[in-house]
Amino acid sequence: MLGLAKGLSYTLKTLVGKKVTLKYPDEPIIMPDRFRGIQHFDPEKCIVCNQCARICPTQCIDLTGKKPDDPEKKGKVINTYDINFEICILCDLCTEVCPTEAIVMTNNFELASFSRDELFKDMKWLHENNTNVRKEQH
Ligand code: SF4
Ligand code: SF4
Repeated sequence: MLGLAKGLSYTLKTLVGKKVTLKYPDEPIIMPDRFRGIQHFDPEKCIVCNQCARICPTQCIDLTGKKPDDPEKKGKVINTYDINFEICILCDLCTEVCPTEAIVMTNNFELASFSRDELFKDMKWLHENNTNVRKEQH
């Protein structure tokens, strides 16, 4: 009997207390700023140094460079940049080593899809994933 009363009092307290659940996905979840979400890539900043691909523990970054259109310019510019989110573990190492912050983490996390093929994200997609970039990386 005492147990029942305790249980009921807890239920009543929770019923009138502050809600801890959200109506996801109708209500977006705001992740804390240190959250490691899907990367944003800025091709303008990339110097094709390959450090991100080299440090990636799952080898899910695939990139290629090309000669700049302007013959006066030296070095390379980025041609393709893909991340395979089937195996990316969002460990943040690629963004840590990038010397120009061409690749940065965001707080976005929604990648659910009916096809594995959709988990391959190219340069255009990563560039357009430009919302909720982590504040410390602005
Ligand atoms: S977050 Fe980690 S696993 Fe994902 S691409 Fe960057 S280094 Fe690779
Ligand atoms: S580490 Fe940064 S600058 Fe170097 S290839 Fe990767 S994204 Fe480009």
